[in-house]
Amino acid sequence: MKVITTIREMQKTIREIKLQQKSVGFVPTMGFLHDGHIRLMENARENNDVLVLSIFVNPLQFGPNEDFDAYPRDFERDSEIALSKGVDYIFYPSVEEMYPKEMSVKALVQQRTNVLCGESRPGHFDGVATVLTKLFHIISPDRVYFGLKDAQQVAVVEGLITDFNFPIELIPVDTVREEDGLAKSSRNVNLSPEERLEAPVLYESLLYAKRLVEEGERNTDLILSDMKKLIEEKSSGSIDYIEIFSFPELEPLPVIEGKIIIALAVNFKKARLIDNIIISI
Ligand code: AMP
Repeated sequence: MKVITTIREMQKTIREIKLQQKSVGFVPTMGFLHDGHIRLMENARENNDVLVLSIFVNPLQFGPNEDFDAYPRDFERDSEIALSKGVDYIFYPSVEEMYPKEMSVKALVQQRTNVLCGESRPGHFDGVATVLTKLFHIISPDRVYFGLKDAQQVAVVEGLITDFNFPIELIPVDTVREEDGLAKSSRNVNLSPEERLEAPVLYESLLYAKRLVEEGERNTDLILSDMKKLIEEKSSGSIDYIEIFSFPELEPLPVIEGKIIIALAVNFKKARLIDNIIISI
């Protein structure tokens, strides 16, 4: 495994790999790796000749009052995990390497962002689309792997790949969870011990909603207010949003039908957690 920190060397390496007609699987992350990232790496390892992992905490996707500085980082540990999972290259650029000066052109995401995290984090998905556009050009992967925990990100990336004609296959991967149901997240370490005990109620409320829908409930307001009640009863977190939309279009549903996403975000003192469930009716 090799760690590459410059764009120039990464591009040179990829050119050599492509000359040998090898396929490239790419897992973009912000590091502080956990089982969710590992699932993406395993999936990519199985289906590609070469596996590239990127670790880059992208300042462009954090708002001014968000946790860019507090975002957990541990490169030593990450590189040990990557090595054990068969990663061939870690692309680990500095902020200066990726953004040597203010960008003259940035990506602007026009659809699927006026709801959920896009609504509460203005500019977030523009930052995601901008860094991914750079990474896709630098790494030229055949396949890119994203977790469905960030389902809106999957929807946005699908649009980015289609609209900008990247010759890349997007592979969505199911959410990996702790034993008590909490979705694995780098941000979970920022929960207090009490909050950590409360946090599984997020997934519990999603499963409850899923059961209601499967039993025939079609009233969105009723489902959402029951979920809200459950979360408020069992946690100290404050709900940012709970919504039901079509997936991947992320449009409101007068009647619940087809492929739907039930998604939520809850703010704890030092961690904002998101989770979702996607079901077909
Ligand atoms: P991040 O480092 O948070 O930007 O995440 C990098 C990738 O890992 C994204 O595609 C995430 O959706 C994915 N990911 C994060 N948490 C999980 C999880 N619990 N299960 C599956 N994928 C995940």
